[in-house]
Amino acid sequence: MTCDQVRRSLDPYVDRELELSKAVEIERHLQTCPMCEEAHVTIEAVRTALGTPALYHRAPAALLKRLESPPAAPPAAGLRIGTWKLAAAAVFVIVASLAISLTVSHHAARTQLADEAIASHVRSLMADHLADVVSTDQHTVKPWFNGKIDFSPPVVDPAAEGFPLTGGRLDYLAGRPVAALVYRRRQHIINLFVWPDSASVATSERHANGYNVIEFADGGTHYVACSDLNDAELRQFTDLIHRPR
Ligand SMILES: [Zn+2]
Repeated sequence: MTCDQVRRSLDPYVDRELELSKAVEIERHLQTCPMCEEAHVTIEAVRTALGTPALYHRAPAALLKRLESPPAAPPAAGLRIGTWKLAAAAVFVIVASLAISLTVSHHAARTQLADEAIASHVRSLMADHLADVVSTDQHTVKPWFNGKIDFSPPVVDPAAEGFPLTGGRLDYLAGRPVAALVYRRRQHIINLFVWPDSASVATSERHANGYNVIEFADGGTHYVACSDLNDAELRQFTDLIHRPR
């Protein structure tokens, strides 16, 4: 068998679609021809990667469309359809792996932030260090941060809705100093951590060790609310912060 014949049969060979005598011929050739063996290993690797269940993410619509439609120009001489399919599969594997690693690292970062928020919340209650500025007046709390932190946190006081502001302090979260605004709901304390962040953040909720954490963003400001308050009421609270009147 010539190298050309072998290359043409590699796809069905890997898929075990060849009759035995032809498969044996190819196997012999692969043992003696490093070039064909390399092509064979590549195809096997792609097949194995595509067979991993974790890789089955739907490709973006644009990519699917590109894969489905034939290339605009006729393939260059020597670029056989098999090669084109192989390249497309390789692109898909790369895109899928990227999507997975991004999702995983994003998820890990969110979980870590929620854990940090809970730790900060608990610390603020235990150390009797809930507020450096104790005031129910947002016009006292907001200016208190001047010169202490490099931004001016938006301070909303939804007291009328049953979430009175009680004070604020400096805290440290997500690797930076943040403003911590303290609210009350009956006997429950809510810590609202605030810092500027231009990145868009999808609203997310986490529950751990009896605490609820809601993370959200609004107009360049990143918020993390943490409390032992039930999640329905904490959501009601963050909705009030989200849509300041
Ligand atoms: Zn060969």
